[in-house]
Amino acid sequence: MSITYMSKLYAPTLRDDPADAEIASHKLLLRAGMMRKTAAGVYTYLPLGKRVLAKIEEIVRDEMDATGAQEVFMPALQPAELWHESGRWDDYGPELMRFNDRHDHGFCLGPTHEELITALVRSELRSYKQLPTTLYQIQSKYRDEIRPRFGLLRSREFIMKDAYSFNESQESLQKTYDEMSVAYGNICDRCGLDYRPVEADSGQIGGKVTTEFMALADAGEAELVTCPDCSYAANTEAGACICHPTQYEVTELTEIETPGVGSIASLAEFLGIPETSTVKAMVGKDEEGCVWALFIPGDHELNEIKAERLIPGFELLTDEELEEIGLPKGSIGPVGLPEKVKVAADENLKAITAWVVGANKDGFHYAGATPGRDFTVDAWADLSVVKPGDDCPHCGATMTGCRGIEVSQVFQLGEKYSRTMGATYLDADGKEQYFIMGCYGVGVSRTLAAIVEQHNDEKGIIWPMTVAPAHVCVIPLSVGDDYVAPEAQRLADVLTAAGLEVVVDDRKDRPGVKFNDADLIGWPVQIVVGKRGLDEGNFEVKVRATGEKKNVATGELYERIAAFAQGTRAPEDFIAQVIE
Ligand code: ATP
Ligand code: MG
Repeated sequence: MSITYMSKLYAPTLRDDPADAEIASHKLLLRAGMMRKTAAGVYTYLPLGKRVLAKIEEIVRDEMDATGAQEVFMPALQPAELWHESGRWDDYGPELMRFNDRHDHGFCLGPTHEELITALVRSELRSYKQLPTTLYQIQSKYRDEIRPRFGLLRSREFIMKDAYSFNESQESLQKTYDEMSVAYGNICDRCGLDYRPVEADSGQIGGKVTTEFMALADAGEAELVTCPDCSYAANTEAGACICHPTQYEVTELTEIETPGVGSIASLAEFLGIPETSTVKAMVGKDEEGCVWALFIPGDHELNEIKAERLIPGFELLTDEELEEIGLPKGSIGPVGLPEKVKVAADENLKAITAWVVGANKDGFHYAGATPGRDFTVDAWADLSVVKPGDDCPHCGATMTGCRGIEVSQVFQLGEKYSRTMGATYLDADGKEQYFIMGCYGVGVSRTLAAIVEQHNDEKGIIWPMTVAPAHVCVIPLSVGDDYVAPEAQRLADVLTAAGLEVVVDDRKDRPGVKFNDADLIGWPVQIVVGKRGLDEGNFEVKVRATGEKKNVATGELYERIAAFAQGTRAPEDFIAQVIE
């Protein structure tokens, strides 16, 4: 790679934080001159941002190719017919960017490519002998997000690597899924991300088995629970909830007057008991309009995804609907409900026999309400949102909470698309079979932001060597002279010959400006070449990650670079081998 000169580089840095940027990655990618906003959730990558993107893409490509997946490139422009076939033209909602061409044919800009890829292979991937086959691409995706924000974390046009596997059995799918999961872990590691694979919900895409790869960061939108003792972690949207409601001493059904008590917190305070001894009610209806009262431990929240899994079409009632059926918000309980109301309860409540719960009368609660004796539970299920403090479902340890950025996700789709779109192959007996499919997505541009989110300080970005826009920045303190400038050039040439990507800050700016920009942009290694240093026979070498600066004799540095050039030549070894 040729040397980059800062005097020529299009990387307009900003001294101040842009007004609408809330989180570190958004601010710093703008300030470091790596990208610019074009429209809400739409960005242009400038040369440095593009370079980092290309490095992430190369890592992704390398890991995909290693699994045997083959790269293709599908159009972003997708005909509506395919989406009608899968049923998602109607299901996808307003996130799908739709339009008509001049002949009035419906199109969308692809938010994902299950339809296209299934249509692609259905007539030509015919024999079981060709399976499994996995195809992938790296491409722009379009989603009209309701709230594009946080820069590249949630944008409307973003770059994704999406892969699709076609398997002939569940076992074969599991194998591909496991290989992809390993590749996804490798991608995170190589990008320098601190991450956890987590149990997740499959949402819009369909299928059941799925894992999200979460880069741990406070700026992340996902709430996670993680086990300190085993590798288990889950998105709180999806994780199983195992908690411990506590039994209140009153076991006979006893009505208590609770004036003004309308929340769990006020109920617990009124009775002087922990929230874990109370039971919370939530009322909704199913797809047929049948009303359900759901009961969960008082210190937890209802997980509506789980509720919908138990009760298809589940939707919470509005305050008006509650009033219509005569249920007093704030005092709802399972004893004496109207006949037609069904009862579902969180499994964790099996641990207590006497519930402290609403009495279906404003200003009254029951203590000692006992399932089986005082009321009937029609269905028991896991209904609560898991939270820190709950038990790990694998080992029982108490879990802690943190936030994460979903950088990638793997799904087992099964036959969802092959059935709706009629995609079959011929098995060993010559019989038509539906493909068993998997799909696997990496948010490439979101990964870029996640890396910055995890690698920054008050001065700017701290790129890991593996994805840095260049490895070493040589900073001559004077330019155009015949002493410092030629030495800086020589050093840059030697580093380049050793396989490193080098930037020379040959701008006529003051040293302070150059140092600030170097830290803001985040070059992993900075080598200052100045007159005084050279007089003393030294370069000043700084490692951005540690902030450590030291003088190294010029001859010694050249020797170490020469040794490095004979060795692994891996940029990620450069700091350890040459500088430390
Ligand atoms: P989210 O839940 O964050 O909306 P998703 O689950 O809908 O994401 P997938 O369909 O799984 O996303 O897409 C695969 C990957 O694409 C995600 O793991 C994420 O890294 C990335 N991605 C999805 N939506 C966006 C977006 N709006 N901006 C940037 N990257 C995105
Ligand atoms: Mg996802």
